Amino acid sequence: MEQNEYKQIYGFVIDSLKKNYSAPTVSLWFEPMKIVKLNNSSITVSLPQNRKAFVEAQYYQQLKQTFAEVLGTEVELVLVSEEEEAEMISETQNENVSGIKSEYKMRYNPEYTFKNFVVGKSNQLAQAVSLAVANHPAELNNPLFLYGNSGLGKTHLLFAIINHIRENHPDYKILYVTGEEFTNELIESLAQKKPMTFREKYRNLDVLLIDDIQFIAGKMSVQEEFFHTFDTLFKLNKQIILASDRAPSLINNLEERLHSRFMMGMIADIQPPDKELRMAIFRRKAIDYGVDLKMDVLLYLAENITTNIRQIEGSLKKLKAHTLITGEECTLPVAKAVLSDFFATAKNDETIVDRIFESASKRYGVTKEDIKSTKRNAEIAMARHYSMFLIRQTTNLSLNSIAKLFNKKDHSTVINSIGFIERKMKAEPAFEREIEQTVQELKN
Ligand code: ADP
Ligand code: MG
Repeated sequence: MEQNEYKQIYGFVIDSLKKNYSAPTVSLWFEPMKIVKLNNSSITVSLPQNRKAFVEAQYYQQLKQTFAEVLGTEVELVLVSEEEEAEMISETQNENVSGIKSEYKMRYNPEYTFKNFVVGKSNQLAQAVSLAVANHPAELNNPLFLYGNSGLGKTHLLFAIINHIRENHPDYKILYVTGEEFTNELIESLAQKKPMTFREKYRNLDVLLIDDIQFIAGKMSVQEEFFHTFDTLFKLNKQIILASDRAPSLINNLEERLHSRFMMGMIADIQPPDKELRMAIFRRKAIDYGVDLKMDVLLYLAENITTNIRQIEGSLKKLKAHTLITGEECTLPVAKAVLSDFFATAKNDETIVDRIFESASKRYGVTKEDIKSTKRNAEIAMARHYSMFLIRQTTNLSLNSIAKLFNKKDHSTVINSIGFIERKMKAEPAFEREIEQTVQELKN
């Protein structure tokens, strides 16, 4: 098996670990590891020497279990240090093909193109205007604003535009960042008192793409800087492309002048795909992933993955890993056995979240919309703490996914809310009993 496949599988393990461990734990202990060998009975993972003893003592069981879940079969887990790994692979040393920095590699994702973007009713307009911009940057449709729910192909289209422009204009300066990266970079440049370096970088471009631009809403200095970046590029007749998880008018706490600039060029939304389009997309993805999908398996996937196309990637990885390891063919029964937990968990979480919102609105006399809003009155805030705590206790959702349910940008609010409820439980035994009882009810 190839390094790339190992990486894919390990990536999936990381995703899964993120649900149970905090981001710092994952990046400190798990991300430095990699799979070096995999066969149907054992998996060998390497990690830095100085981390090995601790991981073995602290995380071995959980790690093994996560591998079993991802691979859909029990395997022996062997941890080796990087030195030991070097000895193991001394014969075949053809890794590290290029000297490209990993950050750059990730940014330049040649796999997302117009060619492998499947078009249907729900994404037709977004695809067409993206292609038009790719063919004629800064001539029509400036800025281009794409929006739609998570996992519907916005980032794919942004990369398709980049790849297309790169081909026609190899000399163009193109920059892709997320709203979060833009924010962090700006803050860092201010802290280091180097705002000019930041400005030089962002105002000296032919094409600027900012993904998940909604992230900058509510942050005054970031919106201010972005406004000037936007105006400078726009006046120089440079192409600006933005993607967001919602329409400009629905982005809370967005400055009016930014709102009006977002609306100035071309706006296109992406809606969830119908079943026919889902099947076409999944068929295409299966080819990319080298998985042979029979019609009945394809149908099964299309029935179970409905709102977030990204889930197809996880599903295919799981199927691929399973077939590679066991040598079994990917028939419908095999696919069901491998994926049913994966789908069931997702569905189950959705139902529980609904029930929690219902319980919170009754208990605190507020609406579900209030809970998800940014309003701050006492009842609403309590209902929010209560809901976040219960969701964390009873579902597999990561802190970040929970934050998203409440339209929060990162997990810190969730952590604060959980802390709040924990303290209240300690202080008030009656409240503690009530919460514990609710958790039990929700779990059944
Ligand atoms: P978003 O940025 O909207 O959250 P992404 O662009 O990351 O979504 O897409 C999620 C996954 O779904 C990616 O693997 C992407 O390639 C795939 N995808 C979504 N729509 C399509 C499509 N129409 N054709 C092919 N792949 C698609
Ligand atoms: Mg995206």
